[in-house]
Amino acid sequence: MDRVAGRFKHLASRGARLFSRLRLGTIRNRLLLASMLLVLLPMFLIGSSSVLLGLRGGQTQVINQLESVATLKEEQIVAWIQSLRIHMGAIVYPHQVPRLIEPLLTNEPGSPAYTEAYNELRIQFDGVVASTGLFEEVLLLNPQGRALVATDPAKEGQVHSLQEYFWRGIEGTYVQSLSSATAQGLSSPVVVSQPVYDADGRARAVLVGRASARTLNEIMLQRAGLGETGETYLVGPNYLLLTDSRFADRRTQILRLHTPTMEQVIRDQTNGSGVYDNYRQQRVIGVYHWLPSLQFVLVAEQEEREAFQTIYATLQLTIVIALTAMLFALISALFAARGIAKPLASLADTATRIAAGDLQLIAHPRRNDEIGALTVAFNRMTARLRELIGNLESHVAVLEQAEAEVRRVNQQLARDVKEQELLNRLSSRLQQSQSLEEAYAVSIPLLQEIFEGNTGAFYHHTGKAAVYHLVGAWGKQAGTYPDQITSACPAMQTNTRFVYPNNEGKAQACADCLPIGGHPLLCVQLHANREPSGLLCLHGEPGSGNAEEPRELSLAIRTADLLALALANLQLREDLHEQAIRDPLTGLFNRRFVNEILGPKLIEAQRHQRTLGIMLLDIDYFKRINDTFGHDAGDTTLRILGRFLSTSLRGEDIACRFGGEEMLLIMPGMTEENALSRANNLREAISNLDLVHEGQRLPNITTSIGVSIFPDHGHNHDELVTAADQALYRAKSEGRNRVYLARAREVTI
Ligand code: GH3
Ligand code: MG
Ligand code: MG
Repeated sequence: MDRVAGRFKHLASRGARLFSRLRLGTIRNRLLLASMLLVLLPMFLIGSSSVLLGLRGGQTQVINQLESVATLKEEQIVAWIQSLRIHMGAIVYPHQVPRLIEPLLTNEPGSPAYTEAYNELRIQFDGVVASTGLFEEVLLLNPQGRALVATDPAKEGQVHSLQEYFWRGIEGTYVQSLSSATAQGLSSPVVVSQPVYDADGRARAVLVGRASARTLNEIMLQRAGLGETGETYLVGPNYLLLTDSRFADRRTQILRLHTPTMEQVIRDQTNGSGVYDNYRQQRVIGVYHWLPSLQFVLVAEQEEREAFQTIYATLQLTIVIALTAMLFALISALFAARGIAKPLASLADTATRIAAGDLQLIAHPRRNDEIGALTVAFNRMTARLRELIGNLESHVAVLEQAEAEVRRVNQQLARDVKEQELLNRLSSRLQQSQSLEEAYAVSIPLLQEIFEGNTGAFYHHTGKAAVYHLVGAWGKQAGTYPDQITSACPAMQTNTRFVYPNNEGKAQACADCLPIGGHPLLCVQLHANREPSGLLCLHGEPGSGNAEEPRELSLAIRTADLLALALANLQLREDLHEQAIRDPLTGLFNRRFVNEILGPKLIEAQRHQRTLGIMLLDIDYFKRINDTFGHDAGDTTLRILGRFLSTSLRGEDIACRFGGEEMLLIMPGMTEENALSRANNLREAISNLDLVHEGQRLPNITTSIGVSIFPDHGHNHDELVTAADQALYRAKSEGRNRVYLARAREVTI
């Protein structure tokens, strides 16, 4: 089953391949096929129907012809039989009966009356046989059936009483065919008998005439337009031929014609026709007429070949004409299909190529018909399409440009917003910063965010020194920036706000200044008070593009300005604060700073369970220096003492000018045990200071020091300072140049 299905599938696919190879989908082939079908199908139908009708008509025609011949022959036979009867009736008339018949019936043979009548009758019989040629023999039978007179005397005396022609013939004229007869038989197949009536109408005898077969043969053999092969003959109920064949070589044979139609005709005693093999085994078309008077079948036939010869010739001519017409139709269909399909195919090809994008193509109208009009319309359509697409493309280009512009503006806006947000954050953080250090610390991560994708560094300076310190750097090469740069850098020239190091021939100078490798892109100065206060450097990562864009520069300048302003403000604030808490002469903190700092320091000490020492140091007899060497020498002395204190104290110790020539030292962690020795060391070191004023050596100074310790001598500023002051007072009063520790407090409840 599967194999059959597979085979069917294979055949179907082969059929489909053949179908596709025939390219029946093309208009040309479809037109061709349609016109072929339109022409060939009716032609085939007409041709085949005309052939069929021709054949049938031809057959009918032949049969009709055969019918007419058979009818003619039948009429001839009827006429022949009629003439047989007439001639037989003319042998003995009723008025002659008494003279010719009665003597034979009433007299004995040999009697004169008998002989006379006999002789006369014989003469009559011979005369009829000789003159008409219709009879072979004639007999006169008496009512008992005995032959009284015969043309053949040998047959006289024979009794025919059992013969049909006798007992039927005595009643009236009777024609009997002898079924036992054949064309080759000795006797004729037809016998005519009739009564001999006397004047009173009584049948006195029976006349029997055996018909001459020759006449019948002649009738049958007479040609009646049946061509070379046509013939007519009689067939008896036993299917034997009763008349001669027209073909001489067959006449000696006993011939039979036994066909189904013949069988039917004999059985039903009707007429018939058909195509059959005749007694010569030739294919013939024939007509059978049942002859009721003879009980024979009259056959008229003609060989089929000859009968249909004209029809065949006509059909052949028809077929040739049809085939020629088909050929012409095919050729004209081919030309017509080609004429329609070729320009259509060319148009379709052009349309396909245009659809593929080649809009410049033009189809060429070759004909002045509908296809030509279609081509012209197609070209107009294509031109319109070209124009539309052109317009569309320009619109799209404008739209794309606008969209790109919008996108660019959006991106720029987004960047601007982000940058502004970052700048705001930077500004806010810088404003929140309490010191430059804090500001530095917060600025670097934000700078990294603002200049994302760039390596960068930020240099700043606080004073008027020509050195700019690295505040911080970011990006991949952050570690390679030098710790400081000088005003020798091209970007730090006072008349320069920004530099593109790879421009303006400054590449080498910039590379020397910032030898980090990579691509220096942009250096922007920070400006404070119209002076450079720092530098913002941006380096590109490889492939990061060019920062030479106004917006990059603008961002860098805005950032630099923001930084510069914020840092300048911080610096100003720091300067002011410094000024507020510093004593300008000694460089030490002032008394206000003591008031500010001592409280927090005490809290800190208390929190850490630590001690804190306060030393109140006063120059002995200072007034004398002023008085002796002048006020400036006094100032110089104070300045030298201040520098000594700020450099010799530990990092956590704080030295302040408490007033006049009196200094206060805050010493976190100092205990009672080491306070005196520490103070004495200081006292001694101060006494050894070289005091030189304007080239003049001043006398050494001594100091008196009062020391108080937290928490032993007080818990707050006032208590501790008072305690130290009291100790100082005692040192002064005890002779000066000495150190006294405050007394322990009296605890009052
Ligand atoms: P004692 O040993 O008791 O401290 O004696 P003294 O002379 O040092 O103390 P006194 O209080 O009598 O004098 C202090 C002098 O210090 C008075 C003042 O003119 C001087 N003085 C205070 N401030 C300054 C200053 O800033 N510069 C100079 N040159 N002198 C100052
Ligand atoms: Mg003094
Ligand atoms: Mg004093």
